[in-house]
Amino acid sequence: MTTVTGLRGLHSGAGGDLVTQGDAGYDAARVMWNADVDRYPAAIVRCSSAQEVVASLRVAREAGLRVTVRGGGHGSSGAALGDGALVVDLGRMRDLTVDPERRTAWVGGGALLSDLDAGTAAHGLAVPTGAVSHTGLGGITLGGGMGWLTRRHGLTVDNLLGAEVVTADGLVRRVGPEADPDLFWALRGGGSGFGVVTRFELALHPIPPLVDMGMFFYDADRGMEVLRLARELMTDLPATLNMFVVSMNAPPEPFVPEEHRFAPGWAIIVTGFGAAEEHHAVAARLGAAEPLFSMVTPMPYPALQQMIDEGPSAPGVHCYDKACFLELPLSDTAIRTLADGVAGRGPLSLCLLYMLDGAYATVDDEATAFGGGRSPRLNAFIVGQTPSADGFEGQQTWARALHAALAPVALDGRYLNGVADPDDEDRRTAYGAKLDRLEMIRRAYDPEGLFAPR
Ligand SMILES: Cc1cc2nc3c(=O)[nH]c(=O)nc-3n(C[C@H](O)[C@H](O)[C@H](O)COP(=O)(O)OP(=O)(O)OC[C@H]3O[C@@H](n4cnc5c(N)ncnc54)[C@H](O)[C@@H]3O)c2cc1C
Repeated sequence: MTTVTGLRGLHSGAGGDLVTQGDAGYDAARVMWNADVDRYPAAIVRCSSAQEVVASLRVAREAGLRVTVRGGGHGSSGAALGDGALVVDLGRMRDLTVDPERRTAWVGGGALLSDLDAGTAAHGLAVPTGAVSHTGLGGITLGGGMGWLTRRHGLTVDNLLGAEVVTADGLVRRVGPEADPDLFWALRGGGSGFGVVTRFELALHPIPPLVDMGMFFYDADRGMEVLRLARELMTDLPATLNMFVVSMNAPPEPFVPEEHRFAPGWAIIVTGFGAAEEHHAVAARLGAAEPLFSMVTPMPYPALQQMIDEGPSAPGVHCYDKACFLELPLSDTAIRTLADGVAGRGPLSLCLLYMLDGAYATVDDEATAFGGGRSPRLNAFIVGQTPSADGFEGQQTWARALHAALAPVALDGRYLNGVADPDDEDRRTAYGAKLDRLEMIRRAYDPEGLFAPR
């Protein structure tokens, strides 16, 4: 095994900052969003360019080290931070170039959603991604990417036009529908381990200057009723609207009456990107159902993307998550299972339902490697969390139990970006027949397993 001194020698002149065990910044450099991830890489290289990534891969090969890649550091499984690996940290590669005429953007492989949202919204444009602005674009794109714009414009992967990728052989490739089409297919939802994506090219879509947002919070005891109401509203929800249903505790925000702060309950959040009347009609129905409190306001798109950045989303929680797809509209059994299954959810834990229909369901399942069928569905994120290691095991048990209870009504596929401990069965469930093609592509581009777990 290469010593720290040996590694420094190999890296000398390669570019990028190398942080190894024993360096003052080492512990800070290995912190991930999920505090439960506590791993010890051999070294972390902070790269600023594709050429520095190429050099880092050469160093790893010569040192006999596996490579893992860190984007925004939010992956709950911690796959970005391999024990004993050389971590290529892309946190300095966050540049954004928008072409408002073509409605496209090139963005660095280490960008956060906030980088993308701020830069594209300045042109009245956006790309569908996730709903928390400090999440990394890298991991979200490689896994799928679902959020407020998904009903309207699909997943992030459905909007990926091309990518600049450094593959295990050290080549910098421009990948797209015509160049390395197999690799391009794998990058659209097939997960990580195919190379280091140094830049993504994305399609952008017009957004209004202000998005309508309504948040309605209901008593925890009314789960069945709230889920039935959500089902009814989702059934003919206009295409310009989207809705999240969340079992959570009320945030300590100024708009929340003091007596309800931190109370457990069910939130329905509805957003509108079109005619205000359409949003008002749904908001009126939600308001008539006697929420404990509500807030309805227009807001700029970047503010919407930051709205749930704090509380359970803030970095440093201990997180264990599971995910499954459910039928849209929800079946009676799913409603009952969800309403009963959130008992035992701790104050920081969540169960979130994201709608996947509209534009999502118009994409051919074979067109991308994404691990979910394209029939209309909901993604259930079941997220067990605690502020420290205290009580974490209990929330892991809760997440596992709810996931198991939903198994009989779960649809094909699985969104692995919401799974903290994906195993072979999860991968088979996610990708089905696509798994063999993904493995073939992996072997073709990384025959020696530079990115493979060891
Ligand atoms: C608070 C929070 C909110 C979330 N909200 C949503 C949501 O609304 N919608 C949604 O779809 N998902 C959501 N997720 C899940 C999210 O999609 C995953 O956590 C995703 O992996 C995060 O990407 P990252 O780059 O931050 O993570 P990382 O941990 O850095 O990376 C995750 C994986 O991707 C690889 N990777 C990252 N960047 C690159 C790159 N440029 N090249 C090659 N490999 C790379 C890493 O090696 C690792 O295997 C959320 C997660 C959190 C923690």
